[in-house]
Amino acid sequence: MSYNLISIVAPVYNEEENINYFYRELKAVLTALKKDYEIILVNDGSRDSSLIKMIGLQKNDPAIKIIDLSRNFGHQIAISAGLNHAIGDLIVIMDSDLQDPPAVIPDLIKKHEEGFDVVYAVRRKRKENIFKRTAYSAFYRILNKICELDIPLDAGDFCLMTQRVATELKNIPEKNRFVRGIRTWVGFKQVGLEYERQARHAGQEKYTWIKLFKLAFDGIFSFSYFPLRLSSIMGLVVSAASFIIIIYFFIARVIDENSLPGFASTRIIILFVGGIQLIILGVIGEYLARIYDEVRGRPLYIIRQIYQQPNQPPANSTNLDYPAR
Ligand code: UDP
Ligand code: MG
Repeated sequence: MSYNLISIVAPVYNEEENINYFYRELKAVLTALKKDYEIILVNDGSRDSSLIKMIGLQKNDPAIKIIDLSRNFGHQIAISAGLNHAIGDLIVIMDSDLQDPPAVIPDLIKKHEEGFDVVYAVRRKRKENIFKRTAYSAFYRILNKICELDIPLDAGDFCLMTQRVATELKNIPEKNRFVRGIRTWVGFKQVGLEYERQARHAGQEKYTWIKLFKLAFDGIFSFSYFPLRLSSIMGLVVSAASFIIIIYFFIARVIDENSLPGFASTRIIILFVGGIQLIILGVIGEYLARIYDEVRGRPLYIIRQIYQQPNQPPANSTNLDYPAR
């Protein structure tokens, strides 16, 4: 299980206050490993000076490769773009805001050396506010219940994987990507490693509630048919209930000719059934939109430019025969 080259893949979106610190901490950890490494920074359409800072770093460090995307494609796609360019025997995916501490990398490698193809970091403690923590926790637990797949609880994208696993991920063309889901889906030997998730070093979180919901929906709709099944069950329950109500009204009319069932109940029933129908339509729509995304077959992302020093062997290289990148 020895390796020659390790790739670090980090998506960057408006991280001008973090990028230099991130690089410095990462570099210290990587240098201590005494192996070859490459750092792949994916600029996901940053609108601040992140790219300029990255280029500044890259000019002085041949280990850095910048994949500059043509616009903001989102965290999950940025990760995938980075993975597609990582040539290491081992690949680590991590955020560039120092929430995933570089100091954990040696532990991930150690675990890999025990014979695991994927080592995913599991958050022991979150430092976000109580709403977000509760939402995350509820989401992972619901997802786990309704998926046929055992997606690990509280594990994010921070992980180490072998090139073999990454190759399998690259071959999955799914557009609405939920990376931690497809990472579980590909199988191989996987294990979790607990770590303490740090608070963001600086700057704002880039995941708004809307983006988080999109991610949660991708997780649920890409890995479970449960919402569809739930719709069918709701349909059945409502039909059964209306059947009973129809019999009730019928008997009431037979027993008492003057009985005029109130408008209120009629309205309630109409609203209730209408609501359920809309929910079910929404659920079908979620799947339909995803099917549409797939058949349209647009590329996952567009690269504006790749910044790398030509024909450089990976940093710390002692082996000059290493193939040029
Ligand atoms: N990110 C990205 N594109 C986006 C949103 C986020 O590349 O559209 C990056 C961001 O720079 C960071 C990582 O993804 O390195 C995680 O983002 P954030 O810290 O906002 O998410 P959280 O830590 O709250 O999950
Ligand atoms: Mg973060």
